[in-house]
Amino acid sequence: MATGTAARRLESYVEGAWRRGEGDGKPVLNAATGDVHALIGTEGLDFRAALEWGRAVGGPALHARTIHERALMLKEVGLKLMDLKEEFYLENFATGATRKDGWVDIEGGIGTLLTFASKARRELPNTRVLTEGPVEPLSRDGSFVAQHILLPMQGVAVHINAFNFPVWGMLEKIAPSLIAGMPCIVKPASQTAYLTELVVRRILETGILPDGALQIVTGSSGDLLDHVNEQDVVTFTGSASTGRMLKSSAAILEHSVRFTMEADSLNASILGRDAGPGTEEFDLFVKEAVREVTAKAGQKCTAIRRIIVPKAHEQAVVEAISDRLSKTSVGLPDDDAVRMGALVSLKDREDVKAKVRELAKEAEIVSGSLDDVSLVSGDAGKGAFMAPVLLRCANAMDAETVHSVEAFGPVATVMSYEDAGEAVALARKGRGSLVSSLFTNDGAVAGEIVTGLAPFHGRVLIGNRKSAKSSTGHGSPLAPLVHGGPGRAGGGEEMGGMRGVKHFMQRTAVQGTPDMLSAVTGQWVEGAQVRSDVHPFRKSLADLKIGDQIVTDAREVTEEDVEHFAEFTGDTFYAHMDSAAAKANPFFDDRVAHGYLIASFAAGLFVDPEPGPVLANYGVDNLRFLTPVYFGDTLKVRLTCKQINPRENADHGEVRWDCQVTNQKDEVVAQYDVLTMVAKTWP
Ligand code: NAP
Repeated sequence: MATGTAARRLESYVEGAWRRGEGDGKPVLNAATGDVHALIGTEGLDFRAALEWGRAVGGPALHARTIHERALMLKEVGLKLMDLKEEFYLENFATGATRKDGWVDIEGGIGTLLTFASKARRELPNTRVLTEGPVEPLSRDGSFVAQHILLPMQGVAVHINAFNFPVWGMLEKIAPSLIAGMPCIVKPASQTAYLTELVVRRILETGILPDGALQIVTGSSGDLLDHVNEQDVVTFTGSASTGRMLKSSAAILEHSVRFTMEADSLNASILGRDAGPGTEEFDLFVKEAVREVTAKAGQKCTAIRRIIVPKAHEQAVVEAISDRLSKTSVGLPDDDAVRMGALVSLKDREDVKAKVRELAKEAEIVSGSLDDVSLVSGDAGKGAFMAPVLLRCANAMDAETVHSVEAFGPVATVMSYEDAGEAVALARKGRGSLVSSLFTNDGAVAGEIVTGLAPFHGRVLIGNRKSAKSSTGHGSPLAPLVHGGPGRAGGGEEMGGMRGVKHFMQRTAVQGTPDMLSAVTGQWVEGAQVRSDVHPFRKSLADLKIGDQIVTDAREVTEEDVEHFAEFTGDTFYAHMDSAAAKANPFFDDRVAHGYLIASFAAGLFVDPEPGPVLANYGVDNLRFLTPVYFGDTLKVRLTCKQINPRENADHGEVRWDCQVTNQKDEVVAQYDVLTMVAKTWP
């Protein structure tokens, strides 16, 4: 631990340089030892200029890169940070967090960055303009169509974070913003800003990010929010009261600045009526509740605050949780014998205790004490240690405080329900939470309770014996899943995979002719210009253009073809084989060809068989069989290059082809996208 070492004067990285606020800075204490760990302050720094620097320098540099280029940049940053993690773990101890707590923050944060980097390259095209949803036809003759597109907001994403996840909190926000193409200014909470500052230093030292893409304000953000404009985005994580105040600040209201708020919440965990003592679910529930109370000394926005149990099992739950909590070893976070470290500061500890006293007006303390903590190491006069506290509320349906006061520490309240409806009603009294969980092995219980919980929560976890080993747990937000909840939880939504990237982009409906839309999006749109010279399968990515097309010769489908296909594949479904049965079917006039036979014939018609730049077919999207094909019908295929997606770090890219199969009456028989890998150059 950094005990006894000289306190570090923290700096802010703004306008392309590390800058120190005026004066010596305010002391920030080590949470566990009380020593001065860092000095912080931003007096005299020009935040308007920082915003302008981000907009003028960082924005254009990011916009010039494609989505995959931005994602690869983050991958490189993430891998470098992983190599440096031990340095971050050392600094983490000063926050009061154990190594295990720090794992969630440090490796969890870097993992989130890497997940975003890899999902973006898998799920988004390698372009600068994103499209969303299908092209909407707006006229009968196809001359006027529309498409939703997404482009990065042209301002800066200002990310204001809470103290409890100095690394994860920053990385989970900058990852989607940078992939979207928005430069960031991060503003960590002062109490643990030293760790965020250290990570930002290491990120900037890699030289991977372009100038202006990432800035950090270490200490008060002064008048920063007075200068945000309509192209900036502000995200806030912290207490509901600060969030409300910032959300209603003048510049944010005046310019309708997009503001995402992740606030506190009174998350609930419910024990199903089937999960009494002796069941595996009962044990899992108790274990999860104890973990949530003690991990990070309960300073997690997702921690379980309300433990909702069937009346019949209430006493058993109280006894089991109390027993485990009383055995929790509390002390210095770098002591291997310690399970729970310190709260972030003595002031926060006082605040938590004051909140517990409020809760105690409606609930009794059944485990732990506010006045006494037994430590395996450390000094409770200097470090912000406290014992985990369990309360029990006898009349929760009529209570207020237990559903509204968040004691942001190792504190939870047990309350009981009579039936599933009451369990849901109790959870809903939190007025919107980030997460809730239900422990049950009974699908009927899950169906009843989860549908009641979902509208009030951003995430619901169902725990039982079958997922016990694989479950990521109640308290872990995950990069692919939505993080955020309605109402009290702030009404925000973060992460959620590529949804999170789109929060930093403007969605615009563009209307015009197919040619104009193609020119804007870089994707071929039905009705746009086409080119038919050499077979498009002879073209490498260097030569291929959207709109390159082949229209094939016609091929007749015969009864023998259908019988041969049926016998060969084993698909002898009656509609292909039995005339009377097919006629009795409401959709068919007689025996019809297999849909997959049509798709196979189509491939036989459009492929160019010789070795060439097309390397592989890796699937089809949106396959629909639209008109039945009868014996004697003739099929023709029109294959058009729709989208070209070169891979940044490979010799090939993906090409999406619009494939339309028509019959002799020009009716569309089948429509789908063919997906291929194509070499960048050939030979
Ligand atoms: P906080 O006191 O509300 O502070 C949050 C952030 O706001 C800090 O960076 C703080 O900076 C900044 N801030 C405060 N006043 C400001 C102002 N006038 N202008 C600009 N920024 C300002 O919350 P906290 O104590 O750090 O965090 C604990 C709370 O966060 C808990 O209630 C917890 O539930 C919630 N939380 C929610 C989530 C979530 O994802 N929903 C995650 C973690 C925590 P300074 O520190 O410099 O004042």
